[in-house]
Amino acid sequence: MLELKLIYWARQSLRLAMVALTIWIIAAAFFAVRSNTLHPAVSPRATTVTGVFSQMFDAVLAAVALPGVLVVVLIVTVRVIQSRDVRRRDPVRRFTRQQRREGMARAGGQCEMEGGFSRRCSRPAEHGDHFYPWSKGGSTSLQNFVAACSKCNRAKGARIPSTALQERLERRRSVYALFDDAVRVGARQPLP
Ligand SMILES: [Zn+2]
Repeated sequence: MLELKLIYWARQSLRLAMVALTIWIIAAAFFAVRSNTLHPAVSPRATTVTGVFSQMFDAVLAAVALPGVLVVVLIVTVRVIQSRDVRRRDPVRRFTRQQRREGMARAGGQCEMEGGFSRRCSRPAEHGDHFYPWSKGGSTSLQNFVAACSKCNRAKGARIPSTALQERLERRRSVYALFDDAVRVGARQPLP
């Protein structure tokens, strides 16, 4: 599903950008302090303690201004995404008994998540899980239902699954699901 690919990579990039900007800010502040201490004679050297500190403060502020603005932009973007996730939330959170029954039957009662080495977990399924997390706007539908053991259920948490996991799960499902239209996994609610 192209949509999940976009969502997943957009969020991964945001996370990476945040890490990069944090490193940039720390490094910029560090070098600003260092060059100010080593070569303070850029402007007439301050003679008082307050003067030294205010010079250093100005240097640090100038150095972190650009990454600082970018961090603010990033935080605003993340907030917008989060509020849209909340607006997408399916009013129905719990799967119906019918969905549970069909989902468990589709999985043959076995956990559909992954144990080690990208292979299917061998434990019996105990939970019906939202593949695309409910809290992030995942649908309470049979397509978004995955059968999971309690260990995989806990390990998965409310993270958006990677597209690689989605592809592997669909490939495995194409072997054990009885109907072709039961292979697809993951569904997200439209914005209201
Ligand atoms: Zn499992």
